[in-house]
Amino acid sequence: MYDWKSRIERVSNSLLGAEVDRPPFLIMAAEQMISRVMGCTIHDLYNDGKYWAKATIKTQEFFGSDVPYVCLDPALLTAEAFGAKFIHRKYLTSTATPEDRLIKTPEDVDKLEIPDYSKSGLYPELVKAFKYLKEYTHSPVIDGFFFSDLTWGPIQQLRGDQAWMDFYMNPDLLPKLAEKIYEGNLALLEYWRKELWRPMIDLNIAYLGNKDMASYKDFWEIEGKWIKKFRQKTGMGVVLHNCGRQPYWEGMIKDIKLLGVQATFDEFGNSDVNYWKEMKKKHNIYVIGTLNQTGPTLTGTPEDVEKEVIENLEALTPGGKFMLSHGCEVGWGIPLENIMAVKTGVEKFSKMGNK
Ligand SMILES: [Zn+2]
Repeated sequence: MYDWKSRIERVSNSLLGAEVDRPPFLIMAAEQMISRVMGCTIHDLYNDGKYWAKATIKTQEFFGSDVPYVCLDPALLTAEAFGAKFIHRKYLTSTATPEDRLIKTPEDVDKLEIPDYSKSGLYPELVKAFKYLKEYTHSPVIDGFFFSDLTWGPIQQLRGDQAWMDFYMNPDLLPKLAEKIYEGNLALLEYWRKELWRPMIDLNIAYLGNKDMASYKDFWEIEGKWIKKFRQKTGMGVVLHNCGRQPYWEGMIKDIKLLGVQATFDEFGNSDVNYWKEMKKKHNIYVIGTLNQTGPTLTGTPEDVEKEVIENLEALTPGGKFMLSHGCEVGWGIPLENIMAVKTGVEKFSKMGNK
């Protein structure tokens, strides 16, 4: 029997900086990886919350991970809750095609209604999944979490690639749409608190704050200020997931007042453990990551992955406030043996006399 209780304790102790027998790690296995491991389709997950949770747990156990969570794509879930209709593919997660776009004209933004989450989209099944997960793992870590995407992910799912043109052609549309998504997330939090628990931490998936995607000013207007507002309004700490190539980390950490980050790349597009070692000290933040999902995991050998794991742990475990994972989903096309090498690397690190 997989001992989730002691694994979860290891995660909280390690993040708090206490001694643990080995550093904890998380595998970012989302829908498409679960369908590979379980031999099921994404429909099977979305149609049955309890199975969704069970398949997630099985997948995490398969990789030896220390964190059970129900994988989800908040951008997709938000867009569906708002009424977007996707044709879900069998094994790969969905993205909006031109026909799927719910917001076809600027007027459509005004017509957009804040969803009733108990009735729309995938959230009712997700709630069932989390309820099962909580029961199964007795997890105080999971109790604390909320997952959101403010705001660019849902904008793209609702508006498609047209969203990039909107910066120039419909400059009023994006702020209005961002505000609707913000309000939708407040309503979702209410639903979450009623059905599940009162979360302390918002794992916020945000993409726009990247040098190669938008200016800092555009990022702040469309995404950054809404994340800050969400933090202030809800009182939750925000851990920002940004797996882009050149995130504006310094600015985002200071301006939003982040509690932590889930990251791979630094501001300059490098996957550099020393950068994160410095940032952890300088800003007193939690760092989750910093394995590169496009590095050895994608194209190297299991031995290359083990080496990367050990380098990351050597640099970042001292002082706690760190949990090893990839900066983003380990998706379709990644060799399973390379993902399994994360566990081997962590075990080798511990045997070397490290904790
Ligand atoms: Zn990501």
